Amino acid sequence: MIGLIPADIIDSRSISEAFKKSDPDEVYHLAAQSFVGASFDQPLYTGDITGFGVVRILEEIKKFNKKIKFYQASSSEMYGIEKSTIKDENTPFYPASPYAIAKLYGFWIVNMYRHAHGIHASNGILFNHESPLRGLEFVTRKVSNGVAKISLGLSRNLKLGNLMAKRDWGYAPEYVSGMWSMLQQKNPDDYVLATNETHSIKELVEEACNVAGISTSKIQSSKENFRPYEVPDLRGNYAKAKKVLGWKPKTMFKDLVKIMVEEDLDRWQRWIKGEHFPWDAATSGEDSFVIRKKR
Ligand code: GDP
Repeated sequence: MIGLIPADIIDSRSISEAFKKSDPDEVYHLAAQSFVGASFDQPLYTGDITGFGVVRILEEIKKFNKKIKFYQASSSEMYGIEKSTIKDENTPFYPASPYAIAKLYGFWIVNMYRHAHGIHASNGILFNHESPLRGLEFVTRKVSNGVAKISLGLSRNLKLGNLMAKRDWGYAPEYVSGMWSMLQQKNPDDYVLATNETHSIKELVEEACNVAGISTSKIQSSKENFRPYEVPDLRGNYAKAKKVLGWKPKTMFKDLVKIMVEEDLDRWQRWIKGEHFPWDAATSGEDSFVIRKKR
């Protein structure tokens, strides 16, 4: 059974109350201001939520029950512009956004609580993990949603940013089982979860257009969507997770894109028939105007 208890990562008292009500054995900390692009406009907020949020929870664990096992959603963005072609747990960090810098604070505070307070606290350094539940702010979902709408005549085009950036994209449900495995280990540690492959946004667009059956000419790159400081390429080595946790990715790039585009096609087809999907129907911008007119 799942019960929801409201709490705010900015408010230690609400975290403390949530602990009292749930008496957890394991805590998975995934809350964050997680949009890299937005973090450039909201650096202080991002630091408070994404960075200090981690220590607010760890402090409550320390006070409430030091036996609680803790998972921290660390991020491949922490590697930033570090030059190695493939990153593992020993690769140095060189973060390039307020988001990544806040995540780095979280990473090291977890490490510190592990050693200073004996808490079973682990960092999952997860490379980009995607699914149809991804928010529209992220490029995979922006593309899958955008091409689905173009293919169904609900939108004319899609404007992206830097098409040359490369990411290591895996399928989120598989990463969740890796997170769980980390907390089942005798000792806490840090693990990279990744696919070991990197693909450009351009490849993502080509594959998504292929699945949706549309021309790539409808997808454009626009300078206004470029970031002030870009992480050009991320690729992870999951060898340690494979060896210790027995974890490896199953769904690779092409299958992932297919899952996401087909789900968005299905959602918009249902929408055309009058069904609503509740989570992220367009509410603003040119796209919603086109949809309203068609309705
Ligand atoms: P991130 O790796 O956590 O920043 O995940 P995102 O999905 O937000 O971005 C991945 C990469 O896609 C970055 O290098 C972005 O610069 C690039 N990108 C190109 N166009 C877009 C866009 O329109 N939206 C987003 N979010 N990213 C884009």
